[in-house]
Amino acid sequence: LMKNAGLGVYLAKKGGHHTYRIYSPSANVETYKLFYLRNELQYALHNDQFLVYYQPIVQAGTDEIVTVEALIRWNHPVWGIVRPDEFIPLAEESGLIIKIGEWVLKTVCRKLREWHDAGYMVKGSVNLSLTQFLQADLIGVIERILHENGLDPEWLILEITETAMWVQKDKALEKIAQLRALGITISLDDFGAGYASFKNLLEIKPDTLKIDRSIVKNIPEDKDSTEILTSLIQLAHRLSILVVVEGVETEEQKEFVLGLEVDRMQGYLFSRPVSEENMQKLLERTAKP
Ligand code: C2E
Ligand code: CA
Ligand code: CA
Ligand code: CA
Repeated sequence: LMKNAGLGVYLAKKGGHHTYRIYSPSANVETYKLFYLRNELQYALHNDQFLVYYQPIVQAGTDEIVTVEALIRWNHPVWGIVRPDEFIPLAEESGLIIKIGEWVLKTVCRKLREWHDAGYMVKGSVNLSLTQFLQADLIGVIERILHENGLDPEWLILEITETAMWVQKDKALEKIAQLRALGITISLDDFGAGYASFKNLLEIKPDTLKIDRSIVKNIPEDKDSTEILTSLIQLAHRLSILVVVEGVETEEQKEFVLGLEVDRMQGYLFSRPVSEENMQKLLERTAKP
């Protein structure tokens, strides 16, 4: 039924009397959509409906692509390209995030292998959900995937958020230490989005700090954001932590952030997340071997 199913057929699945919902207020459509997405996650995983998009992270000053962040998409036969904010929480609830996360890691490592063989020596940055991060055999899974693709751990960056510290702090810190001992880079994501703790920053001491785009959004007009950004970059550098500024959308933001001696930048100004084919084209254009 799912394959090539038009919206009408799809909705009919739930019973004819529900078909009218598509015309009802968007809140209902949203609930309806989530209901289906939740039920179809497993199917999607086994039927190759997930995709990995890539967004470049560039070296400040040269704009050279040093890292690509993997951002999952769901190519849904009815809803089109579904973004992760919609389905990752559902996958977390059901525990399927572990399998999906493993699929992302595999896909990225395989791609990196290909790109390296072609002479494009970029690192891959992968987002880890909390459940995935706390999973007992995470290290084993990662070691196996790296090994299968003949990839040194130095090419893999794992992005985690501070939420890792809220649940089981000791366990989180231990896991981080294990991953770093393996040679994997740890990146603290979304820093400054909502509640940012300097204590967490000091305890995690990540290799890389990603400053959330909510801080960058209003610079340079907003004095507070500007001060926060300036201090964060200085603090990170004193701790020998590399800084990535996220969400750079305009030339003005780029120039301003460059002036703060940030290390790396990411944002729509450089490129939106793109398909692997288009990422390869970007690499071919900018990082000729
Ligand atoms: P994130 O890790 O903070 O990823 C950055 C998000 O910001 C991406 O949204 C990206 O498209 C968007 N973005 C990048 N540059 C700009 C910009 O200049 N302006 C604006 N307005 N947005 C920008 P996306 O791809 O929708 O991903 C949303 C979130 O979903 C990610 O936030 C991440 O937390 C999560 N996610 C994505 N892929 C995965 C995955 O494979 N596993 C897990 N567990 N989570 C993932
Ligand atoms: Ca991220
Ligand atoms: Ca982020
Ligand atoms: Ca995020």
